[in-house]
Amino acid sequence: MCGIVGYIGNKNCIPILLNGLKRLEYRGYDSAGIAYIANGEAHFVKNKGKVSSLEDKLRNLNIVSNLGIGHTRWATHGVPNEINAHPHFNMAKNLFVIHNGIIENYQTIRTSLINLGYNFITETDSEVIPHLIDRFLNEGHSLCRSVQFALNEVQGTYGIAVIYLNEPDKIIAARKGSPLVVGIGENENFVASDVSAILAYTKQVVYLEDGEMAVVYKDHFTAKTIADVEIEKEVTEITMTLDEIDKGGYAHFMLKEIMEQPDSVQNSMRGRLLFDEGTAKLGGLETVADRLVDSKRIIISACGTSWHSALVGEYMLEQKARVPTEVEYASEFRYRNPIINKDDAIIFISQSGETADTLAALREAKQRGALAIGICNVVGSSIARESMSGIYTHAGPEIGVASTKAFSSQLIVLALITLMIARRKDMSLVDGKNIAVEMEKLPDKIRQILKLNDEIEFIANEFKSSRNFLYLGRGYNFPVALEGALKLKEISYIHAEGYPAAEMKHGPIALIDDNMPVVFIAPKDSTYDKIVSNIEEIRARRGRIIAIASENDDNIDKLVDYSIKIPDTIRMLMPILSVIPLQLLAYHIAVKKGLNVDQPRNLAKSVTVE
Ligand code: GLU
Repeated sequence: MCGIVGYIGNKNCIPILLNGLKRLEYRGYDSAGIAYIANGEAHFVKNKGKVSSLEDKLRNLNIVSNLGIGHTRWATHGVPNEINAHPHFNMAKNLFVIHNGIIENYQTIRTSLINLGYNFITETDSEVIPHLIDRFLNEGHSLCRSVQFALNEVQGTYGIAVIYLNEPDKIIAARKGSPLVVGIGENENFVASDVSAILAYTKQVVYLEDGEMAVVYKDHFTAKTIADVEIEKEVTEITMTLDEIDKGGYAHFMLKEIMEQPDSVQNSMRGRLLFDEGTAKLGGLETVADRLVDSKRIIISACGTSWHSALVGEYMLEQKARVPTEVEYASEFRYRNPIINKDDAIIFISQSGETADTLAALREAKQRGALAIGICNVVGSSIARESMSGIYTHAGPEIGVASTKAFSSQLIVLALITLMIARRKDMSLVDGKNIAVEMEKLPDKIRQILKLNDEIEFIANEFKSSRNFLYLGRGYNFPVALEGALKLKEISYIHAEGYPAAEMKHGPIALIDDNMPVVFIAPKDSTYDKIVSNIEEIRARRGRIIAIASENDDNIDKLVDYSIKIPDTIRMLMPILSVIPLQLLAYHIAVKKGLNVDQPRNLAKSVTVE
């Protein structure tokens, strides 16, 4: 998820690695480190915090080295600290690995390596990789074969770079699910997770695909599959500017993050669904699972977009797990002397894990003896540390101020919790399996929705001058209406409100005229007929209607001005799909108004004040 850079050549690698890591800083990270080989010895330097502090440490060491690898970590397993920072190494400290991604089966591998006498010093999933490689080296295999054997044993995602003192003429790079490129220079070569890290030195790059690896020497490289089949790779010349590259070729981080959702949603579920048992396994909840399942009531507390995901969670937990659930704004919860019982479980949701009101509410709940569970994206954040147990969303760093992929990942985590509780209560195996199977299909369905980007941009153009918007939905899609309206407000500064569709008659209908766009979230579910009646009510008052509708719904086109057709899923998962067109609609309207979508006025990414 975070940054990798590596160098082999005739120059001193240290400034090159540091420059590369600085170029990757914009992605967000919590610690950094490098490993290098100099004068026949291998060394590493790492630290929590900024690359500039790493640079300070290195300055005093006056190192000259021609081979090194560097990493910025965005923790997924284990708090951000110096020990957990990469590179990780074997016990002999002559083999170094940096890793982006998540090793899902690291617990199993770790246990089997410990049984073989391997000693682990970090909490990370990544540390299994150097020890596994070491195991194969000890069996007499080359570095390249040992890396291949090791990668055959790991499940999950990785982009790795490896150096080894006994084979100091190469860097090995391999990828599955986490980007990696080889940069080609003159008598020097590079590896990087992102071309921006090496663009100052070369524009010639080779993109590795999943299942591929490169053995990178100073003056050439060879490419093969992890299964050891030699392959030919094409060299690509980079023509994009640095700014374009940082944003993955997209105009803004927000668009990049919207487009990343097939992967971020996948990452949130990775290794957590048990298909045969039709349930979910959430490591972070293991110690409190019994208490959570037995709790008489669940309260979910959050702010902003996370509060909307909490509302969806309320529907999920009540309908599927049959637990009475309440949702509270964190800011209200802490000040209104809430009734909290010892058999309540309280879930706190925050992307950054630093939201001041949510953190204060968490402290209050803990003091009153409730089970406090955190759902955060940033590992090691305050809420993650202070909650009694928690689940990371694993959406990856979110840079755009308006939250998009963090929201869909929060919904995935809430669905996993619901599934786990429901199956331990009275949900049937068949129903549990159905939810797991439907969850697994989400990334492809999101991909399908993202293809509607141009269509949505067209609609955005039609409505960019509107002054007000109304968003309406029922059931699970009511919180999506709120979230759609919030996205629009946040980045386009257009006044927008979300309502339960039936509430419209109790007030907002007075606003409807031919200037008022109304966005309906109207998939074909059990409330469809009712929502069609609401659409008719708007039509009768000449409001302009955009509908998010099911792909097989041919009826709706004659009732609305624009329809955006999306695939169906089970009701509890629908918000994960239906929110995506609304994110794109808000994005395109804001861009067409010429606004700064990544940093909208008056807003901060992490709200650390009350
Ligand atoms: N899962 C690894 C860790 O937590 C890698 C994180 C990253 O991609 O930066 O250390």
